[in-house]
Amino acid sequence: MPINPTKLFDSRNHFIPENIDIIIIGSGLGSLSAAALLVNEGYKVTILEKNYLPGGCTSSYERKGFIFESGATTLVGLDEGMPLNALIRKTGIEFPVRKLETPMQVILKSGKVLTRHLDIEDWILEAELAFGKQGMRPFWEECYKISKKVWQVSSRQLHFPPDSSLDYLSLVRNIKVADFGLLPYMFKNLADLLKKHDLQNNAEFIDFIDEQLMITAQNKHSSVHSLFGATALCYTNFSNYYVDGGLVRMIAAFVNFIESKGGQIFYRTSVERIEKSNSGFKVTTKDSSINCKRIISGIPLNNLKQLYSFKNIKLPFHEMQAKDLNSAFQAGIVFRTDRIFDTLHYQIHHKTPFPIKGSGSLFLSLSHPHDRLRADEGLTVASVSTHVSEPDLWKGDKAEILEKVISILEMEGFLKKEDIVYMHCSDPSDWEQWTGRYSGFVGGYPQTADIKPWNMNSARLEVGLYACGDSVYPGQGIPGVVLSGMIAATKALSDLI
Ligand SMILES: Cc1cc2nc3c(=O)[nH]c(=O)nc-3n(C[C@H](O)[C@H](O)[C@H](O)COP(=O)(O)OP(=O)(O)OC[C@H]3O[C@@H](n4cnc5c(N)ncnc54)[C@H](O)[C@@H]3O)c2cc1C
Repeated sequence: MPINPTKLFDSRNHFIPENIDIIIIGSGLGSLSAAALLVNEGYKVTILEKNYLPGGCTSSYERKGFIFESGATTLVGLDEGMPLNALIRKTGIEFPVRKLETPMQVILKSGKVLTRHLDIEDWILEAELAFGKQGMRPFWEECYKISKKVWQVSSRQLHFPPDSSLDYLSLVRNIKVADFGLLPYMFKNLADLLKKHDLQNNAEFIDFIDEQLMITAQNKHSSVHSLFGATALCYTNFSNYYVDGGLVRMIAAFVNFIESKGGQIFYRTSVERIEKSNSGFKVTTKDSSINCKRIISGIPLNNLKQLYSFKNIKLPFHEMQAKDLNSAFQAGIVFRTDRIFDTLHYQIHHKTPFPIKGSGSLFLSLSHPHDRLRADEGLTVASVSTHVSEPDLWKGDKAEILEKVISILEMEGFLKKEDIVYMHCSDPSDWEQWTGRYSGFVGGYPQTADIKPWNMNSARLEVGLYACGDSVYPGQGIPGVVLSGMIAATKALSDLI
């Protein structure tokens, strides 16, 4: 019988202590990454989470005895040199994973099915077969080279982007000669890279690129910087993992580690206001006010601005509005099947008009056939999501959209309507309620070509106030938010010493 995620967490009523070293707002993966590093260094950390479960958009919940993923379904970042790998090595956090042999398949408008092989050579051969040889090999070789370098450099440069003399010192100390190989890409967009390899007029390939970019960069090739774009496109060329029982079990491993080191998490505790105080900051929730020296915010910058006056913040600061952001329509579907699927993740391009303005595809993730924690034998739990642009203008009809999603899955041969045993769905207003995120936007700030790496938002908003999460280091999902938490903790630690 599946296990309710709520039972994984302690719901004791404890007292919020006074004079905490660091308060962390929210328990998303960015926050938990920062908290894990800080408790590991011996600091007293208290996390305030508005929800009844930790993890935010990387979590799972129970409905009718089945376990559904809250948001994220693909898990990347455990390879050597990537942020999650560095974090768990440092802290010793452990959680069981299954490595996926095949990260993803993509079903194009034409009906062509592409396997996004993990091995770059296998993937290049597949791409050449699907889109032609012209420019394909050098394009992917270049993207892969960039992406490996980007992860190596960013996992090492934990003061980036720099905004204090110590940050600059650390930057110089940690730089390697090979890092300068990224310099030529600093002023280039992904469109320039496509042009270089004469791929800009390969319409089917550009369609494919744009839909892949929407998953990890939240934007299309014309708007994405080359460094982030290349990294986003090679997302499936890094190992992809599955966690039995849902990603909430990875979150539980983080929470257990934080609590074992003396950190505390208070659920159903929403931060309503932040003010300056003699001891640093005063944080007000519905029931109490707490003083602390330092704060790390793991909520989107738009939300933080509603809690704290930003008049002291002098850094260049990019804040995106709802018109530039995406939310999601997501369906959770449980169905009977004895089919062995080629992979757990599919991107399905729309062949007929779809009633949502956002991306041009659905993203389908299935529970592992041997995962008995999420559903009994013979049943599969599917998570189907798609982007919703301009979430503040959302007026969609959930039932009509769900019907359309089911008909697409039926048409593509994933399920039969009569085999569905349970289904439900969520839209931007549900996201707003579940995570509290401004306008229900999810998936992070889209990457844009005009935000170059050196003018990204800094994690240090002012001394004592730090930010992490997917509005700070945008667009790369789990690897990006883990990195953002590591950077926020590193900057906070350097100011504490
Ligand atoms: C449908 C969907 C699919 C996705 N798929 C993938 C994927 O396959 N792979 C991947 O890597 N990424 C994926 N992502 C992106 C990834 O899940 C997110 O970028 C990431 O989880 C965001 O983490 P975060 O740290 O920014 O915080 P969030 O997840 O936003 O968490 C913030 C937390 O703060 C809490 N909070 C908010 N306001 C307050 C307050 N005032 N006081 C206290 N607590 C508060 C919220 O309840 C929440 O728990 C997906 C996202 C969605 C929505």
